[in-house]
Amino acid sequence: MDGTYSQNDLSHVVDADKAHVWHHLVQHKAFETSDPRIIVEGKGMRVWDQNGKEYLDAVSGAVWTVNVGYGRETIVKAIADQLMKLNYFAGAAGSVPGALFAERLIQKMPGMTRVYYCNSGSEANEKAFKMVRQIAHKRYGGKKTKILYRDRDYHGTTIGCLSAGGQKQRNAQYGPFAPDFVEVPHCLEYHAADQGWGHLSGEAYGQRAADAIEEVILREGPDTVGALCLEPVTAGGGVIAPPPGYWERVQEICTKYDVLLHIDEVVCGVGRTGEWFGYQHYGIKPDFVTMAKGVASGYAAIACMVTTEKVFDMFKDDTSDPLNYFRDISTFGGCTAGPAAALENMRIIEDEDLLGNTTRMGDRMMGNLHELMNKHAVVGDVRGKGLFLGAELVQDRATREPMDEKRVQAVVAECAAQGVMIGATNRSVPGYNNTLCFSPALIATPDDIDQITDTVDKALTKVFG
Ligand code: PMP
Repeated sequence: MDGTYSQNDLSHVVDADKAHVWHHLVQHKAFETSDPRIIVEGKGMRVWDQNGKEYLDAVSGAVWTVNVGYGRETIVKAIADQLMKLNYFAGAAGSVPGALFAERLIQKMPGMTRVYYCNSGSEANEKAFKMVRQIAHKRYGGKKTKILYRDRDYHGTTIGCLSAGGQKQRNAQYGPFAPDFVEVPHCLEYHAADQGWGHLSGEAYGQRAADAIEEVILREGPDTVGALCLEPVTAGGGVIAPPPGYWERVQEICTKYDVLLHIDEVVCGVGRTGEWFGYQHYGIKPDFVTMAKGVASGYAAIACMVTTEKVFDMFKDDTSDPLNYFRDISTFGGCTAGPAAALENMRIIEDEDLLGNTTRMGDRMMGNLHELMNKHAVVGDVRGKGLFLGAELVQDRATREPMDEKRVQAVVAECAAQGVMIGATNRSVPGYNNTLCFSPALIATPDDIDQITDTVDKALTKVFG
């Protein structure tokens, strides 16, 4: 660390934090016997805590966000320059970086034309849900209000997004939820046997999992279903890359029943899987794409809901109806730091070929994870795409019974003790919190990747022998 803070300052910070901060995702009793971790500084792939301990961050800021790494001076400068000119203006007005980033983003998304700014992934998804509902009222006489979501997918933290949430434990005690959100099955081939479709694999499984969506549409009535919302590669639900043939069939089904396709790229977006967007691996034509985390790598809060001219026109053309526009605002959608940071973030990804690096490093990491699977019986499955990978831990390879959560967390804690931060997905799904998760920044080097997997190797040996 650079010595900006003395040890006295940092002890005070820890005391102030313990006295007043309510942390995300944690039962606070834990801090009666141990201190919270305060991350004080970051540079590249590495961060330092209040004790000066260094960590290789293999999860990009805990929740797959800091795609271009820490300490990027050019992003900081782009933000500072913009803030000196104009920090904020909202309502119906636009901004210079807002217009320029929208233009650059749309160049990466053939078929899409319009960017709606807001400030979190949840909010971006809410915007798309609201548009789907408004289209149902405008075009379909108040029918087609149902929004399908998938078991295991997560779309955010608001009551609306939790209504579309497939991770049941996250929802527990927060109901009642919004009506007309309907669940469809997931597409995790490793647990296909639990879905009652027999022993299918590969394309046969992909087709079956997609057909299950069609069955729900037919059961609900196609004239009541407005949209299907999916993560291209499911994140918190267990790092689930789709089986072959799945997306092609999903697209076919959406087209057949006039169901709008909403792709939640909050995690996959902006390079994480080795393409600009996860859906671009599969030749999908979405109607809505939402994104947040990697858009500005956490240097500023920004989220985008991106759609097509076809959707845009539905809200523009009929001026005889006073309700015929999207009557919505996001106060902090008017912050200019977000698009200014996002423009520079995108330039860095292009100039440093971080998409190429993501594919190369992702392949290397996948190879290393396969070696771990050969060596440790508890590693039941490894999966993912680009630098978005998971290793599912099981009690028994034959039954695929999930490893118990305490021992999975012991592996995570042991890696942290050895200086590498990894994650475990599905923290809040009972019985399923068993997938170690890796999402290092897209700047990772071969040495970084090997350090991550070597540390996991040692941690697995320590916890399981
Ligand atoms: N969608 C997905 C796939 C996510 O993983 C998340 C956050 N983890 C969200 C939406 C919500 O984003 P935010 O926390 O920015 O509201």
